[in-house]
Amino acid sequence: MRLIFALVTAIVVLLATVSSTVHAPGVLGEEASKGASSVDQPTDLSSFPYHLSPAGSSGPPPDARNSPLFNKVIVIDPGHGGDDPGAPGRHGESEKDLTLDIGRKLQALLEETGARPLLLRSGDQEVSLYERPALANQVGADASVSIHLNWYQSRWVHGLEVYYYHTHPASVRLAAAIDGQLLSQLGLTDRGITDEQTYVAVREVTSPSVLIEVGYLSHPTEEKLLHTEAFRQKVAVAIRDGLSQFFSGK
Ligand SMILES: [Zn+2]
Repeated sequence: MRLIFALVTAIVVLLATVSSTVHAPGVLGEEASKGASSVDQPTDLSSFPYHLSPAGSSGPPPDARNSPLFNKVIVIDPGHGGDDPGAPGRHGESEKDLTLDIGRKLQALLEETGARPLLLRSGDQEVSLYERPALANQVGADASVSIHLNWYQSRWVHGLEVYYYHTHPASVRLAAAIDGQLLSQLGLTDRGITDEQTYVAVREVTSPSVLIEVGYLSHPTEEKLLHTEAFRQKVAVAIRDGLSQFFSGK
């Protein structure tokens, strides 16, 4: 088992290295430079060790069938990973660690509802920009959520941003649902939902998809919150509730 894990890890590292992209934070909307590259198109994705929960396999509670999320294939994309840390954490973990933690929490919450989450990286791996949406499309996702934390040179900028692209007409409704839940449950400042074509994570996905910048690691208060496990759990709960609201059609 350990040998298999090592082999799988080696494959992931190799593929990620081959197709890695450079991402330098530092401009408003730290993802602003993303998406300009067209060089790392996905190749063979069959050897990726991603595990899509089979329907009903996670032992959801009996009433899970009544959940709007039941059997929904939901791709969770924790931003960055491996050699790409994303936004730095001056007083703790960097963006890649925190997005993974939120992603894992969201995965657990979704499994409880009988949904079928697919976490695009389960550890500190680098998955390239184009492989992420390609995997979402390959598994036939019902929805896709990319999780990021923002950074800006000024320490005063703060708040929640949710991005979508009109590739899928329902993406704006998904963005509004998740944005609304995050705002009402976390009390963050609203920086709005934006139709944005530069983000590969939402532009290249054929199902409803959003990219969430939960807050700014460069802002002292939000940095402190994002480094608090209880706050990250709240973030995951709010995203789950936004997804549930979206699939309930409300
Ligand atoms: Zn990011």
